[in-house]
Amino acid sequence: MRKFAHHVHIRKRYIIALLLLPALLISGFQKVSSYFEEQHIAALSWTVANKLIVIDPGHGGLDPGALGTTGIHEKDMVLEVSKKLALILQEAGAEAVLTRETDRDLSDPVADYSYQAKIQDLSRRVELANSRNADIFVSVHVNSFSDPREDGPQTFSQPGSAESKKLAQAIQFEFNRFLANPGREAKQVDYFANRMTKMPSTIVEIGFITNPKEEKLLLDEHYQNKVAWTIYAGIVRYFAQPKPAFALP
Ligand SMILES: [Zn+2]
Repeated sequence: MRKFAHHVHIRKRYIIALLLLPALLISGFQKVSSYFEEQHIAALSWTVANKLIVIDPGHGGLDPGALGTTGIHEKDMVLEVSKKLALILQEAGAEAVLTRETDRDLSDPVADYSYQAKIQDLSRRVELANSRNADIFVSVHVNSFSDPREDGPQTFSQPGSAESKKLAQAIQFEFNRFLANPGREAKQVDYFANRMTKMPSTIVEIGFITNPKEEKLLLDEHYQNKVAWTIYAGIVRYFAQPKPAFALP
């Protein structure tokens, strides 16, 4: 009787191992394939060398942006990710310029952040990119919505700008490969910063601060690094694409 029970016990273990095997194989395959994907991006990293990239951490100062359930503000989250992105780009040989490096907005000091202050703030961010003739402009934000089930990162570009659309699509492509809650598509929406910049530009929403699971991820430094690297991968992908040939005079 005892022997029989032991036998059953072993068989049970064996079955559990067999059931686990496909999961292990799949996760192993995913790890290996993501390793190769990362190597592929590393091999293309030369495409960003000597490019001037303006990174715009959204909001700041009197403008907190969206508010998470834990009390974290969008302005703080996006500053962390933007700084990490700037470092990665600099390591690859690009010149990365941040529109702000601290918790501030770019408008003249005011008692309360009005619509006029917002426009002044945004205009100065755009002006920084335009005056320096940046190659691209990337504004980093987090999304928010009344329904906490909404999740996933998404990129936006100005309707009618083919190059901006390519940039937004390249980053979205990498978002859907590497980040949590994939499946959204790059969208063309008229936003002030994208409309006013003279170079290809995109607004990247790195996830929903109103989704508790995604908010938790976005607060994790490990995940923030992953988000920064993924935006970088999208930028590399964008510059690696063949550019339209212009006829010389
Ligand atoms: Zn925002």
